[in-house]
Amino acid sequence: FDPRRANTVDVERDVEAEMRPREFEDFSGQEKVVENLRIFVKAALMRGEALDHVLLHGPPGLGKTTLAHIISRELNVNLKITSGPVLDKPGDLAGLLTNLEQGDVLFIDEIHRLSPVVEEYLYSAMEDYTIDIMLDKGPSARSIQISVNPFTLIGATTRSGLLTSPLRARFGIQCHLEFYDSTVLQRIVKRASAILNIGISDDAAYEIAFRSRGTPRIANALLRRVRDFAQVKGTGFIDVEIARICLEALNIDKYGLDHMDNKILTTIIHKFKGGPVGLNTIATAVGEDPGTVEEVYEPFLIKEGFIKRTPRGREVTELAYKHLGVDRFSEPGR
Ligand code: ADP
Repeated sequence: FDPRRANTVDVERDVEAEMRPREFEDFSGQEKVVENLRIFVKAALMRGEALDHVLLHGPPGLGKTTLAHIISRELNVNLKITSGPVLDKPGDLAGLLTNLEQGDVLFIDEIHRLSPVVEEYLYSAMEDYTIDIMLDKGPSARSIQISVNPFTLIGATTRSGLLTSPLRARFGIQCHLEFYDSTVLQRIVKRASAILNIGISDDAAYEIAFRSRGTPRIANALLRRVRDFAQVKGTGFIDVEIARICLEALNIDKYGLDHMDNKILTTIIHKFKGGPVGLNTIATAVGEDPGTVEEVYEPFLIKEGFIKRTPRGREVTELAYKHLGVDRFSEPGR
């Protein structure tokens, strides 16, 4: 345990909380999702009922936790936050549920990682706001049913494919978050700069946005590093030159691709002659789980035009060869 590290993590978390949009108005992008959620929230408020359960799925850092905060705020209720791996006993869940007030939001991050017993417990809670509590053990064991206040469960997952169908079916509202376009991320970077009280030029904000893998969390983190550079090496103001110097120094890929993105591309090029190659084969070759490759990495690579999905598998595009500086016709085996 390294206390210095714990501290920095805490500080980063605080900063992240500070930059988190508080209202739908401050939340940029994901227009369709936001538009629908606004209506469902408004309707629940008009009826004075708890909002239906919400499932948010999409890659990490795109705003699932942020939306849970915004929804509970707009509903004017408390938000309780937990996560799938933390809730390992039904008793933990019962404790949380019985403490919820009317209409409160319970946010379960990484809901695909709930244990099956806890998940089963959740079914009746979600459906008719009751839970069965076991009293005693062995032959004298019996269960009693208790009711909990109507509440909204917001589940977040990066791996919607891992959710069991009974659990998925209990979410009346399901939203998929997409990677952000650079222009939207540029807005997010500018807003975050204003909160951090730093001056930044439009093109510098765009440079950071463009290299952030379509992800607000990465954009915000890069902004903080660029700010360090601007303060130490520059005047404090972030212009495009200082942004570039910092991003180079951090080895941030020109397109914002991370280590695994690049590994996937080079593997397809060097080991599978550019494809087509099946998802499982790629995943084994890069040592990652196929679902994670499919739901976390691949969507961004496809969106940016580095990979194509064909009926025979995944293929890299001309852009991938160009990006990695590989001449496709000089590749062995071609
Ligand atoms: P997730 O729960 O999907 O992993 P978070 O909600 O924790 O992602 O978001 C990560 C960070 O990115 C937060 O600090 C938040 O400030 C920022 N963020 C996410 N989405 C947006 C958005 N649409 N507009 C502005 N900032 C955002």
